[in-house]
Parts: sequence; C-alpha cells; structure tokens
Amino acid sequence: MALIVHKYGGTSMGSTERIKNVAKRVAKWHDAGHQIVVVPSAMSGETNRILGLAKEICDQPDPRELDVIAATGEQVSVGLLAIALQAIGKQAVSYAGWQVAIKTDAAHTKARIASIDDVKVKRDLDAGKIVIITGFQGVTEDGDITTLGRGGSDTSAVAVAAALKAQECLIFTDVDGVYTTDPRVVTEARRLNTVTFEEMLEMASLGSKVLQIRSVEFAGNYKMPTRVLSSLTDPLIPLEIEAKSGTLISFEEDTNMEQATITGIAFNRDEAKITVFGVPDRPGIAYQILGPVADANIEVDMIIQNQSVEGKTDFTFTVPRNEYTKAMQVLASDVQAQIHATGIIGDAKVSKVSVVGVGMRSHVGIASHMFRTLSEEGINIQMISTSEIKISVLIDEKYMELAVRALHKAFGMENQ
Ligand code: ADP
Ligand code: ASP
Ligand code: MG
Repeated sequence: MALIVHKYGGTSMGSTERIKNVAKRVAKWHDAGHQIVVVPSAMSGETNRILGLAKEICDQPDPRELDVIAATGEQVSVGLLAIALQAIGKQAVSYAGWQVAIKTDAAHTKARIASIDDVKVKRDLDAGKIVIITGFQGVTEDGDITTLGRGGSDTSAVAVAAALKAQECLIFTDVDGVYTTDPRVVTEARRLNTVTFEEMLEMASLGSKVLQIRSVEFAGNYKMPTRVLSSLTDPLIPLEIEAKSGTLISFEEDTNMEQATITGIAFNRDEAKITVFGVPDRPGIAYQILGPVADANIEVDMIIQNQSVEGKTDFTFTVPRNEYTKAMQVLASDVQAQIHATGIIGDAKVSKVSVVGVGMRSHVGIASHMFRTLSEEGINIQMISTSEIKISVLIDEKYMELAVRALHKAFGMENQ
C-alpha cells in the first residue's frame, strides 16, 4: 500500500462525464489498496471565463480580488469530484486550500507555497477516505485567498505529494506524456519515456506548458517521483500498465543510454522586446534601467547590451507580453529622462524558441546547427541566450511554428 497523489488538469475535469471517469480511475487506484489524494484543476475554460468577467469591469483589477474569483473554479471541481466518488460508493472528502491549510506568501496571482499542514489529510486517509484538495489555491498568514499562477495546480499536486511524503505524484493530463515538443505544433513529436529533472526544468521555464515550472522545482527539491500520463484512456485499464505509462521525470542521467543531443524543443509565444537606445555607457546604467522594472514586479528574461559607439549604447531586454505595456510605462515615467536615453522602442510580437538537452554538454556544434537551420528557413534571429543545456533564440512570432518544425526535423528528433 502506498500514498499516491493524482492531479487532473482542466480538460480531464472538463465535463461531468469526464469527472465521472476521473472518479472511476481514482476508485480503481483506491481499490488496489492505495491511499489517494486527488488535486484537480478547474474545469477547462473556467479560469479564463471568470477572470474575463473581472476584466470586463476593470482593465487592471486588484490582484487580491482576482484571486478571490480565480480560486472558485477549483472549488467547484473538488466538490463535483467528491460527489462523483460518493456516487460510486467511495468515501471522499473535499477541501479548499485554506481548509488544509496550504499556506502561501501574499504575492497575489503568483503566490508561492510556504507550508502545507498534513494533519487533516492524514487523518482522513487513515479513515479510508479519498481526499480531494483544490489545485491552484492557497491562503496567506492573514487568511487571504491566493492563487499560484496559471497552471498552478501542477505545483499544488507536487507540493502536497512532497508534504505527505507520497510515493509518487501522477500528473494526469490530455496528452500521454512529455513529448520532444508540443504535439499540437509538431505532429511527428515523440513521447519521452523519461526526461531528466534538469531538462524538464528548462523546458518548463522556456514555455512547455505541460508542467508549471514551480512543480518541477518542487519535484527536484524533494526528489518526488513525478510522472505525466494520460487521463483520456479507458479509466479501467489495468493499474500495472497505467502505473508505468507516460513520462517519468528522472533524477539521474542514464549513462548507459546513448544520449540524444537534443531532448526537447520549447517555445514561448508570449514574449515582448524592449530597446532603450542612445544610453550613456557608464557604470550603473543596467541597474538604472532594470531596477524600476524589477520594482514593478516585472520579470526580465533575455538581456543584451551592445558595444558602445562614442560613449553611447543600446540596451535590449525581453519581458512577458502581458507585462509589456506596464514595462513601457515604467520606462517612460521613471527611466528615460533620468538616464538621458535617446528613445525607447518595443515589439510585442516576438517569440522565443529553445532547444534543450543534457547531451549538449558533450557535443559541439549544436548552436551552429540551430542557426544554420533557421537561416535556411529565412528566419532572422533577434536575440540569443544560452546555458549549459539550452540555446534560446528570439524571433518574429510569425515564424515560430516554422522554426519549431524545422528544428525538430534538423535534429532528427522524430526518430531518435
Ligand atoms: P492540464 O490542463 O492537464 O494542466 P495543460 O494544457 O496545462 O494541461 O498541459 C498539457 C498541454 O501541454 C498539452 O495538451 C500540450 O499541448 C502542451 N505541451 C506543450 N509542450 C509539450 C510537450 N513537450 N509535451 C507534451 N505536451 C506539451
Ligand atoms: N485553473 C488554473 C489555470 O487555468 C490552474 C491550472 O489549471 O493548473 O491556470
Ligand atoms: Mg496545466
């Protein structure tokens, strides 16, 4: 008997029919003698719908109130799932984040989990109940409801699994594992049986939405075995087969296997680029530009500063597209005049494409292969950044899918 956490995403919870299927699948695992905690997301489209209501009233709503709204989607899901389980004869109890309690900091709409109380959950599990906990939401020390950022139910699930010292965290979703790239963009994408924690971390941080990045961080910090698998199979498929299906995040590199150079291609459509030009080239300038941007809680990603000409240089960086307008406002009001920049221009129609793989450490020529492939497609590279196991390029958003497909082919990823 083991304690196992199941997470079901929005599509998996997308209708009452699907919720009944989730109940059957969960019941199957419970019948096999396991203790089961389930962390569901809101029904698909629901989080967008309710946040959309707020935006109909006000352009920039108070984040505290946005969390009050956003958290309700998951609350409906847990209640429905508990009812579905009870309807098939299982004892089940649902909890909102604050009832558990899942404590977070007060960074509304992107809160971080600080601690999880396991007392109630353990008590219920020991009494034979299936425990269902809302994904995505938590509560501050002061009792305010928070949410963990889009896709945050993944993080709730892995964090709950870590807090309960579960044997495994199973992330059930609408694809049957982690692929070399998004199978919706490249039909030849191939499912990976395992992916190293480091690679998954890079892929998630570079835009692969299959797992929220913080869930991968939790998995790494607590060495929590985490598997991504399909919720759309027959819920009654044999448990032994299901338990080995999908993609396992591994914490060791498989040294026996011939390492593929590139494991995955990630992309992020939602980037924006800002250039501050004619900036005096002297100490402190980068700080004077990016300090106010950071103070406005805007994350900066790629950064380039050009070689200066006659004491002046250009400074370019990227921000998430939904923060673009705010970043431009901050620069116009708090930065441009102070540093005597000639001007500020921006482009909110750029995307980032990245190739990822631990095999890069032992192979040379990956970057040149990538750049040649893009040049053969006539795609201009606007910015480049690298780490030990990834190379990212910023390109015009209209070439993003073409770039992903061309690179997938160029690195022979469909048939490794
Ligand atoms: P859920 O609602 O279950 O959390 P998400 O939509 O958040 O599901 O994540 C699953 C989706 O992630 C898939 O439908 C797929 O389109 C997308 N995706 C992006 N990159 C990958 C990848 N490398 N492997 C698998 N799926 C990916
Ligand atoms: N419902 C939330 C969202 O749509 C959390 C999640 O699905 O993981 O972002
Ligand atoms: Mg998700």
